[in-house]
Amino acid sequence: MTPSQRPVDMRPDVLVIGAGPAGLTAAADLAGTTAGEVLVLDREENAGGIPRHSDHLGYGVRDLHRMLTGPDYARRLVDAATAAGATIRTRAMVTGWDADGSAEVTTPTGRLLVRAKATVLATGARERPRSARLVPGDRPRGVLTTGQLQNLVHLHHADPGHRAVVVGGELVSWSAVLTLREAGCRTVLLTTEYPSPESYAVFNLAGRLALRTPVATGTRVVDIIGEGRVRAVVVESIETGQRRTVECDTVVFTGDWIPDHELARLGGLELDTHTRGPRVDTALRTSRPGFFAAGNLVHPVDTADISALDGRHVAAGVRAYLEGARPSGPAALILADKPFRWIAPNVLRPDDPAPPRGRLLLWTDELVRRPHISVRQNGYELAHARLRWPASPGRVVRVPSSLLDGIDPAAGDVTVGLR
Ligand SMILES: Cc1cc2nc3c(=O)[nH]c(=O)nc-3n(C[C@H](O)[C@H](O)[C@H](O)COP(=O)(O)OP(=O)(O)OC[C@H]3O[C@@H](n4cnc5c(N)ncnc54)[C@H](O)[C@@H]3O)c2cc1C
Repeated sequence: MTPSQRPVDMRPDVLVIGAGPAGLTAAADLAGTTAGEVLVLDREENAGGIPRHSDHLGYGVRDLHRMLTGPDYARRLVDAATAAGATIRTRAMVTGWDADGSAEVTTPTGRLLVRAKATVLATGARERPRSARLVPGDRPRGVLTTGQLQNLVHLHHADPGHRAVVVGGELVSWSAVLTLREAGCRTVLLTTEYPSPESYAVFNLAGRLALRTPVATGTRVVDIIGEGRVRAVVVESIETGQRRTVECDTVVFTGDWIPDHELARLGGLELDTHTRGPRVDTALRTSRPGFFAAGNLVHPVDTADISALDGRHVAAGVRAYLEGARPSGPAALILADKPFRWIAPNVLRPDDPAPPRGRLLLWTDELVRRPHISVRQNGYELAHARLRWPASPGRVVRVPSSLLDGIDPAAGDVTVGLR
């Protein structure tokens, strides 16, 4: 290997991977309060994560206490991290780890080997594409996820088509409808497998009325037709099996999130089989000492402000780690019971802080109008609480973490479900 091919060694105190809301907020907090160097790496051309190309209002409410568009929000987070003294390097993709835990990084000017005292993974989540959803049919152009659509429209100013079918009824699905409309493309159908769209009722109503979007509940796309470009999709009623063909030139697969967990997996971190992100305790420590995780990587998927507040929370854990604090006592798993699909954080340790915002985050597969949450250990109910809001598929259910107060992790795993 010639000297020019050798990776450049970097030794920051903290390495943050991912310059989205979680990573940037963690970096701003850490750089403002630790003496050491904080390096943020992101594979994209610009820092800011998903909000960079999500050009509508709806960002910053809980963390910045204002309502911003995605790009404005992203700019503020980048400015805050930079002003605090963090170094942000873009077009820097972390591709793996060497034997001693250094991050291997590829940049246009060469490779880096970054050895940090602590590492925060904040690589976010992505929508599962058509291939992962196993939708049969032709393989024409015009099949996108919301992220790809917004990239195309907002960053590349390209034309997405004229008639779209949007698959999914989450908040993000309405964001796709808005983007399509701005780009001059009509949404001729929004299809969801659930009995009602997963988004908040107010968005569903606004979508149906203001955006004049027909919604087909209890349906799924079973075929994509088109040579070269999409020509139509076949939509099937889940209950009756009845099918109809809907003409369109664009199909947008929305929601149905999976964490960007490849680095966590390559780093040997324990993954939670339900979130499919790294398993984290309430301080957002992973199973590997010195490695932390925050944002949608650990809860696929919540809003940007929640990810940003994770960033603030993880910074406290990282600082404690750098000062020599280590977790104490045995750990128990926190498990989700049906109808919940996952829960985060998912590890309970004695003497640990409450999770971010004092909330456990859950994802439900069924609509429960008045959920009565039950916490059990060894078959015994230890705590319960009735929530004042419904648990609805497609958005996070928030449960006060005080339900876990006083539970001894040494006594076994803890299950959170319904009474
Ligand atoms: C279409 C759409 C609309 C939305 N609308 C709203 C809204 O109105 N309000 C709201 O609050 N939230 C909204 N959200 C959700 C919000 O964008 C996310 O909650 C938020 O971006 C999550 O932040 P994060 O930091 O966890 O991850 P991300 O924002 O996804 O950032 C992760 C970063 O990690 C980088 N990365 C990943 N892997 C690597 C690697 N190997 N090396 C280097 N870098 C890497 C990525 O490039 C990315 O920049 C929307 C999401 C979408 C898709």
